[in-house]
Amino acid sequence: MAGVQTAVALREQGFTGTVTLIGAEPHQPYDRPPLSKAVLLGTAEDSALDVDFAALGIELRLGCEVSGLRPADHELDTETGPVPYDVLVVATGAEPVRLPGAGGVPGVHLLRTLDDAERLRPVLARRQDVVVVGAGWIGAEFATAAREAGCAVTVVEAAGRPLAEALPAEVAAPMTAWYGDAGVELRTHARVERVEPGAVVLDDGSRLPADAVLVGIGARPATAWLAGSGIELGRYGEVAADAGLTTSVPDVYAVGDCASFPSQRYGERLLVHHWDNALQGPRTVAANIVGAATGEPPAVYDPVPYFWSEQFGRFVQYAGHHADADRTVWRGEAEGPAWTVCWLRGSRLVALLAVGRPRDLAQGRRLIEAGTAMDGTLLADPTRPLKSARAA
Ligand SMILES: Cc1cc2nc3c(=O)[nH]c(=O)nc-3n(C[C@H](O)[C@H](O)[C@H](O)COP(=O)(O)OP(=O)(O)OC[C@H]3O[C@@H](n4cnc5c(N)ncnc54)[C@H](O)[C@@H]3O)c2cc1C
Repeated sequence: MAGVQTAVALREQGFTGTVTLIGAEPHQPYDRPPLSKAVLLGTAEDSALDVDFAALGIELRLGCEVSGLRPADHELDTETGPVPYDVLVVATGAEPVRLPGAGGVPGVHLLRTLDDAERLRPVLARRQDVVVVGAGWIGAEFATAAREAGCAVTVVEAAGRPLAEALPAEVAAPMTAWYGDAGVELRTHARVERVEPGAVVLDDGSRLPADAVLVGIGARPATAWLAGSGIELGRYGEVAADAGLTTSVPDVYAVGDCASFPSQRYGERLLVHHWDNALQGPRTVAANIVGAATGEPPAVYDPVPYFWSEQFGRFVQYAGHHADADRTVWRGEAEGPAWTVCWLRGSRLVALLAVGRPRDLAQGRRLIEAGTAMDGTLLADPTRPLKSARAA
């Protein structure tokens, strides 16, 4: 996503040099969000991005893995030989974390690539019994699709609730009920001891029969190939980019799931693993590549992060970053079908999560961007448009 968007943005912004897009996967570049939704259920064949690369003069080198970067030579190493560059954009995304000891056990799956989704389709089509390890975004979306297909689904989560890393307990609490309502058995505080062919064994000794196991326990930046390049990495192994998405090595940028950036807005370094970041970041990268040639001051990437998830018949959307918030205001009943939680710092809206309330999300995102002060009492009234709850 971020690689394609960078190439397209470069052309949109008037870049006339050669653009080469190198990717390890053999498929035409595609979108990942449908992989845990329509592609998995077979209602969409694939999710190829609708970009005419030839017309844009973008050379695609697919099925080509990059194994190293030699900045002093301005060259990449690939299995078919070195590739020179004037400017390099690192957009290698993230890789799913594997479950220790489960590699090679038949029936154990990850869900990151189109090939992964194609391997999982027959599991759903045959309505197999599945165990999902991890109640995060991928686990919830896969469980949703598997239930829709008629599979028996058990979700095993080491923490005490779903989305424990992403959301505070009070916000994730209502989501626990979504699993049961959808006919999914959710087992929290449950650690996997081992996976055997046909079963997942938990550390309390219970044995969960499983024709297939989906491991959804997170993703890590795909940066191992940068070892020895001198590119500075951050605490999660991601490329530590600066505010203009340049790296510690000259002429090298980094964007998307593989890179973090310092957010002036939130006063901390952010590593965002969501689609919108892979759409917006590339525009800054392209502007800075084009601008460097003409001596423009660098553009700064400082977004209000945004993502969505479709799970258990609900459309969940999030904007902002709530780490430094000091209170929450709820709009609507958490037990109901539609509600929003707003995070405030002082009177400023800094983040919100909307379930089935896309207008709240759209209006809230703009208010977060503008740093608008809100009236907490008006904000708590779900019948009022969110934008009408500005402080007087
Ligand atoms: C199943 C699934 C569902 C998702 N659903 C949502 C959603 O609903 N909402 C949302 O906001 N986000 C969603 N996301 C997240 C979103 O898709 C990612 O944030 C986005 O794809 C990141 O784009 P990227 O370009 O940084 O990385 P990627 O899309 O992962 O692209 C990186 C590419 O680099 C290639 N590559 C890696 N290493 C090398 C190498 N050494 N040499 C050559 N090529 C290499 C990889 O093969 C890959 O094709 C989902 C992700 C997945 C996996």
